Amino acid sequence: MTHRRNRAAPDAPPAEEESGASHRQRPRHRERTFPADGYEGRAYRARVEPMTVRPLRDGRYVVESEGGTYVVDAERATCTCPDAAIRGARCKHVQRVAIEIDAGLVPAPGERERVCAVCGRPTFAPVSESGPALCERHDHEPGTLVRDRETGALLVVVDSMDERADGIRTDEGRLVADYETNAAYGDHEPVFAVVYVESLPAEATDDAAGWLDALRESRRYLFPASRLVGVEFGRDGSEGASEAAGTGRRSEDESAGADDEPTIGPSERAEA
Ligand SMILES: [Zn+2]
Ligand SMILES: [Zn+2]
Repeated sequence: MTHRRNRAAPDAPPAEEESGASHRQRPRHRERTFPADGYEGRAYRARVEPMTVRPLRDGRYVVESEGGTYVVDAERATCTCPDAAIRGARCKHVQRVAIEIDAGLVPAPGERERVCAVCGRPTFAPVSESGPALCERHDHEPGTLVRDRETGALLVVVDSMDERADGIRTDEGRLVADYETNAAYGDHEPVFAVVYVESLPAEATDDAAGWLDALRESRRYLFPASRLVGVEFGRDGSEGASEAAGTGRRSEDESAGADDEPTIGPSERAEA
């Protein structure tokens, strides 16, 4: 099961507020408008008229507009306003909710707003999902390449452990949070299992099956979420840090068979 979408709301507070002044957060659901060049009729009004969209817990949304406050069911594309209820139109409120979902401003039906377990920013996750929520920046999907902030080593994420750094032990019997190299990262952070790319045999990249086998057979290390930074490779082969490397949290297929393998802390590599 992989997330369809799990991104930080664009109106999340700026990074410098991470360390404290969270009381200065702007209201998350506020009146706004959208650029409307080239749009006509209801689609135009859906963008230019100031409206506030607030998600309810059941996949419906309250839309406040100058003409009144209505309830939109996004999946059925219905609204309680006269335009929709009487004329059967796909009214400007239904269209506005779709626009805000697409823009990542409100959760889609089946998702709910949660708080990233690392940075506290708002993020969206499936209603059915339990365990810690992570924003796009701090989530790492199995199979993605990341770098260790401490050593710069290139790693492949193999599993999301759904455990805090002060709640999971390496096979040395030490808590992940107790390693000196993890002191700069929060004890509360969810832990990811990774494999060192340099430890994978060269022929592992020949085909997908060989790659998965190599990942499964390689020694796994545990890292707190924010010690890992996503990397993506540009078209010219150059590498750049990515703020948006992870979009899913866990894949049952990719994490299958992972639990019976030993895990060990990153300290010996990190200090080398
Ligand atoms: Zn309406
Ligand atoms: Zn985060």
